Amino acid sequence: MAAHDVAVIGAGPAGSTAAYRLARAGARVLLVDKARFPRDKPCGGGVTLRAARLLPFSIDPVVEDVVDRLECGLDYGPHFARTARAPLAYMTQRRRLDHFLLERAGDAGADVRQGVAVDPRELDAGVVVVADGCNGTSAKALGLAPEVAHGVALEANFPHDVRHAHTMTLEIAAVPGGYGWIFPKGDHVNVGVGGWASEGPRLRAHLRRMCDHYGIDPDTATDTRGYRLPMRRPNAALVFGNAAVIGDAAGLVDPFSGDGMYEAFLSAQLVADAVLADDLASYAAAVERRITPLTTAGWGAKLAFDRFPRTTFALARLPVTFRAVERLLRGELATPGEARGLERTTVRAIYRVAKAAGA
Ligand SMILES: Cc1cc2nc3c(=O)[nH]c(=O)nc-3n(C[C@H](O)[C@H](O)[C@H](O)COP(=O)(O)OP(=O)(O)OC[C@H]3O[C@@H](n4cnc5c(N)ncnc54)[C@H](O)[C@@H]3O)c2cc1C
Repeated sequence: MAAHDVAVIGAGPAGSTAAYRLARAGARVLLVDKARFPRDKPCGGGVTLRAARLLPFSIDPVVEDVVDRLECGLDYGPHFARTARAPLAYMTQRRRLDHFLLERAGDAGADVRQGVAVDPRELDAGVVVVADGCNGTSAKALGLAPEVAHGVALEANFPHDVRHAHTMTLEIAAVPGGYGWIFPKGDHVNVGVGGWASEGPRLRAHLRRMCDHYGIDPDTATDTRGYRLPMRRPNAALVFGNAAVIGDAAGLVDPFSGDGMYEAFLSAQLVADAVLADDLASYAAAVERRITPLTTAGWGAKLAFDRFPRTTFALARLPVTFRAVERLLRGELATPGEARGLERTTVRAIYRVAKAAGA
C-alpha cells in the first residue's frame, strides 16, 4: 500500500485547499512545498467574494481591507466610479493568506512538509496533485506539460493612503493586453501593472506612470517584484495517469483580470471531488465545464479592450454592465453567459466586440 493516498506538490492557494479538502474527507495526504512558510508570492492579494465563497472556512483573520467600490479608467483618460451593494473582494497579503491556508490543511490532518524539494516521480502516493505554480517543473517531470501562454506583471508596495481604502482602482489598457491596479491593504497600498509578455521590458516605466497619475511617489516603492501570469490554451491536458495539475501549474489564471485564486480554489475543489470519487479523469471534464467558460470570456474581454478600447469601455461603464460585473465578482453569476435581461444585452454587446476583435 502507498504511504499516502494523495501527494500534493506546492502549498499555494491551490495545493493547500486541495490538501485540506482531501484530508477532511479522510484521505492520507502529503502536502509538500519547497519553501518555508510564511513565504511571499508576487500577487495583488485580492480575493474576490466568489473565490472566498468557495472556501469551506472563513479567511477573516487575514483580511486587511474589504472592497466595495470600483474606480475604473481607460488608459489615463475617461474614468468612472461605482459603489457595489455589497463587498466585491477581500484584500489580503499572500505571505499571511498562504500561511493561514497551509495551517488549515495541517489542522485537517494533512502531513505538511515545508522546505522540501521532491522528485515527483519518486513519491509513494496513489495520486499526485501538481500545484507548484507557474514556474513549477513537476508536471513536465510527470509527462504532463499543459500548454500555457504567459503574461507578465510587476508590482510594488507604497505607503498607505486613506484615499484608496475600500476601493479597487483599475486603469484598463494602461498596459497593452492588461491594466494597472491599486489595491488597499492594512498598512500599505499595492500598485501593479500587467499585460502581454512582450511588455516585460516596459513594465517599470508603466508602473512609474501609474504612480505618477495617481499621485503616488514612485521612489517610496518597496518589495518591487515581477512574475508571470500563466494562461491555459484550449484543451491543454490536465490529467495524465495518476497525476493531475491544478491552479497556476495548469495555467488557470483569468486572461483578462489576471486573477487566479478563484481558479486555484475551484480547481482544488474539482480535483478533490474527482479523487474522492475514485475517478481522476473526471477532473478534466469538470474544469472544462466550470472554468473554461470563464477563461473564454476572459480572452474575449482582453481582446475587445486591446483592439477596440473605447467601444468596450463605453459598454463597460454602463451601470447595467457594473451590475453584471458585481454579480460575477460576488459569485452570484457563474459565467457572464448566465446574465439575464438588460445585463445580458450588454454582455452580448461585449461578446460581439470580442468576436470582431478575433476572440
Ligand atoms: C503580480 C501578480 C498579481 C496577482 N494578483 C492577483 C490578485 O489580486 N488576485 C488573484 O486572485 N490572483 C492574482 N494573481 C494570480 C495569483 O497570484 C495566482 O493565480 C495564484 O498564486 C495561484 O496559486 P497556486 O497555488 O496555483 O500557485 P502559487 O501560489 O504560485 O503556489 C505554488 C507553490 O508551489 C511551490 N513550489 C514550486 N515548485 C515546487 C517544487 N518543485 N516542490 C514543492 N513545492 C514547489 C511554491 O513554493 C509555492 O508555494 C496575481 C499574479 C501576479 C503575478
